[in-house]
Amino acid sequence: MATDTITSAAGETSGYRQPEIDVPALLDLLDGRYTEVRSLVRSNLAEYESVLEDAETMSTPEFRDRVRDLLVTMAATGQTGMGFPEEYGGGGDIGASIAAFETLGFGDLSLLVKVGVQFGLFGGAILQLGTKPHHDAYLGDLITGEVMGCFAMTETGHGSNVQALGTVATYDVSTQEFVITTPDESSRKDYIGNAAAHADLAVVFAQLEVDGGSQGVHAFVVPIREGGRVVDGVRIEDCGRKMGLAGVDNGRIWFDRVRVPRTNLLNQFADVTPEGRYESPIDNPNRRFFTMLGTLVQGRVCVGGAGINAAKVALAIAVNYAARRRQFNASSEDHEELLLDYGMHQRRLFPLIARTYALHFAQEVVAGQLHNVFAHTEAPEEGENEHRRRELESRAAGTKALGTWHATATIQECREACGGAGYLSVNRFDALKADTDVFTTFEGDNHVLLQLVAKGLLTDYAGEFEDMDQFGMVRFVANLAVETVLEKTSVHKLIERIRDVLPGGDAWDQEAGLLDPNYQLMMLRFREEHMLGGVARRLKRGIDQGMNPGEVFSRVQDHVIGAANAHVERLVLEAFIDKVATLEAGDLKVALNLMCDLFALTTIEADRAWFMEHGRLSTTRSKAISREINGLCRKIRPIAVDLVDAFGVPREMLRSPELLAE
Ligand SMILES: Cc1cc2nc3c(=O)[nH]c(=O)nc-3n(C[C@H](O)[C@H](O)[C@H](O)COP(=O)(O)OP(=O)(O)OC[C@H]3O[C@@H](n4cnc5c(N)ncnc54)[C@H](O)[C@@H]3O)c2cc1C
Repeated sequence: MATDTITSAAGETSGYRQPEIDVPALLDLLDGRYTEVRSLVRSNLAEYESVLEDAETMSTPEFRDRVRDLLVTMAATGQTGMGFPEEYGGGGDIGASIAAFETLGFGDLSLLVKVGVQFGLFGGAILQLGTKPHHDAYLGDLITGEVMGCFAMTETGHGSNVQALGTVATYDVSTQEFVITTPDESSRKDYIGNAAAHADLAVVFAQLEVDGGSQGVHAFVVPIREGGRVVDGVRIEDCGRKMGLAGVDNGRIWFDRVRVPRTNLLNQFADVTPEGRYESPIDNPNRRFFTMLGTLVQGRVCVGGAGINAAKVALAIAVNYAARRRQFNASSEDHEELLLDYGMHQRRLFPLIARTYALHFAQEVVAGQLHNVFAHTEAPEEGENEHRRRELESRAAGTKALGTWHATATIQECREACGGAGYLSVNRFDALKADTDVFTTFEGDNHVLLQLVAKGLLTDYAGEFEDMDQFGMVRFVANLAVETVLEKTSVHKLIERIRDVLPGGDAWDQEAGLLDPNYQLMMLRFREEHMLGGVARRLKRGIDQGMNPGEVFSRVQDHVIGAANAHVERLVLEAFIDKVATLEAGDLKVALNLMCDLFALTTIEADRAWFMEHGRLSTTRSKAISREINGLCRKIRPIAVDLVDAFGVPREMLRSPELLAE
């Protein structure tokens, strides 16, 4: 470890020792408790590396079949069934299944999405919404891939607003069957993965009608193919060419009075008796609906994690390329400069590495929470479980949004950082860009998800939470004093606490060291609290002025999204700081501290206009932050390649033979 004393850009003098990275040790840290699972998936990816080239050379039907076959092959290794109960051939470990899925994000993303549809969406719906007879009937065969299924929720007319779906399932007491019908064109199922070519079964979300009354959206198992042939009453159309994910057969489905037995209702949360009586342990229809949907939260956690891992692939290529590629004489007459030695290149790539690390640790937290809540590893207090589930859903929504937006931004930046070479398909960015793009939309559109986050914050997941649509939430907030809204949020209390420990009293933000994690957290907490308070005030004022709640919400919506984003970024920083705090003193800790500082300061820098507008950043300090970031980038330069190598992306998944040639 080289010893060096560096005067920080902010003017503080600190002893600084340039760390050296033990790459396997850092990889181990990143892999966490599921090292073995991730290793299994890595070796499976490497073994079937040819799929990356197949995506470019095969016709669409051929490639779809190739991806389906690969899914079945991988299922046989156990990697895709880890979240299912052992009695059906699964692994009985939800955390392991998330780790396996995330790791698939290093490889071909059609395969990832196909796996997500089959085991996460379709299998997850059978597991979470169904009961033992459904588990007995389907789980064994779907875990092996012998039975293929799809998850038919979205319709042409309604995507984000699932409660407004148009498909109808009417109970016919005379035959004890449900009759599934697509009443109009906007109610056809749309974008459904696995539907166009491979699925035998569909979990169909439809408005349940019993005895002339509507009971809201419920899920039904509906056969759509038998022996490869589409069954009578079902019509399926291919969605056609997409921007990416060519190996996933997305389709549209229409149902013309298709009959399924009464027992095909996935009846974990509600049932219809043979005589046609509707029964549910959850009286409130909204609560029932959100409870049902809430059980499907794993899909969101998985997509967020896969997005973060796709970003790692892009960074591994771009940073390694920049450590080889020379352009222009800059610091020497004899040789041209390595791209990675240019300050701008460092500024473009290193903050993205830092944010990737931050999101990785935030993802680890949410995946761990999901595992604990669903595996019931911690016995909750009475009533606590529901609150924890709402918090989990909110955190999953926020991490998914930030993780997938990060993937899109990172892949684009890395493509550009590789110049023209980045444009060639063999160098991966083609597929990475095309295939990850839609991660920001499916499993919940990111803007819609952030509204869910804000709703949780503003209402503190109140008992009435599920009952509230946007308008209900506006009214709820308007009826509270703004102070009450703030007091209900933990941010407020945290700020009070931190204020006490930071020197400088009210001038805490002018005095504290830029690299002090308390200062960094305080800044993000201040922004979160302030934005949330602003939203609450504006909602309240609008209602007090007699405006329509919908109009009020719409006017405040950018502020709502900003508050949710601020909240999630604060959670991400906390996750990073907490992780670093667990490490023993040494090079790894020093290196991750650099990353954590870089993430925190670039996050503040990116929103410096806001901090300045709100009196929390002087121009002098704002400039000092930018200088500090540049200083951090110079410190990170010697370890940048190690930092991305520690992501553990299999060499075969990087391709890029010329970019990465030794
Ligand atoms: C490749 C692919 C695979 C898919 N696979 C499946 C599948 O297997 N099964 C399935 O059921 N579905 C699937 N989907 C559908 C996907 O889940 C939906 O596309 C997604 O939920 C968004 O719905 P939407 O397309 O109707 O967009 P919309 O809900 O119409 O949203 C369009 C835009 O409007 C904005 N918006 C919406 N509501 C609001 C609001 N209240 N305030 C402000 N802005 C708003 C959104 O932010 C978004 O930018 C898939 C989609 C794709 C593209």
